[in-house]
Amino acid sequence: MNDSLVQLKNVNKHFGALHVLKDINLSVGKGEVIILLGPSGSGKSTLCRTINRLETIDSGEISIDGKLLPEEGKALAQLRAEVGMVFQSFNLFAHKSILDNVTLGPRKVLGKSKAEAEEEAMALLAKVGVDSQAQKMPAQLSGGQQQRVAIARALAMKPKVMLFDEPTSALDPEMVNEVLETMVSLAKEGMTMIVVTHEMGFARRAADRIVFLADGEIVEEATPTEFFTNPKSDRAKDFLGKIL
Ligand code: ADP
Ligand code: MG
Repeated sequence: MNDSLVQLKNVNKHFGALHVLKDINLSVGKGEVIILLGPSGSGKSTLCRTINRLETIDSGEISIDGKLLPEEGKALAQLRAEVGMVFQSFNLFAHKSILDNVTLGPRKVLGKSKAEAEEEAMALLAKVGVDSQAQKMPAQLSGGQQQRVAIARALAMKPKVMLFDEPTSALDPEMVNEVLETMVSLAKEGMTMIVVTHEMGFARRAADRIVFLADGEIVEEATPTEFFTNPKSDRAKDFLGKIL
């Protein structure tokens, strides 16, 4: 597929003797929303982390928008900027204001002026509904607000694809929806997204495709309706039996 934005070909990764990613082949189209599901320890986080080389791979190829992910150096930094990542823990800079958290990358990495970076940051903060918090420090915001800032901060780098690794797992239950809604609107705007989540309602609603991982292997790929109503593999049936 030539219009795929993220492509993994025969990707293998070991941690010592543990074969965590086994011959992963995955192609994510522009604007597609992939939800990665699988039991704990199946390799979902490792797979996300290989896509921007937070983890190296042992063999195979990963390309972003047709460009092979380089091993290191400036080219890697450039490609990394095209991949936004949001983690379970919000990882905001604790000693910087919300506005500074969002403008830092564009100023340092993209070379934007303070004025331009701030104007764009305010627009992004408004989009995720926290522009009134711009002058505050991260600790003054709720977890849901901080996570929305983390999303705005990633978007400020103008990524081509956004990776979310359990973005709502650390949140109090009443804050989960505000973050999921932000992600749904991002998806509707056409952002290419790879999301690891345990929120099955969201997965059903937002996914174009479910990719089910078990023991480091892609065991099943299906539309959400197919996957949730008619899982094919025993491992997917077992997984769904435990969580639904
Ligand atoms: P998931 O996100 O699906 O829960 P992970 O990708 O975090 O799974 O982990 C997959 C497997 O790799 C697990 O067995 C985990 O213990 C192991 N693992 C993850 N990171 C490391 C690491 N840095 N060193 C050694 N083993 C790791
Ligand atoms: Mg994980």
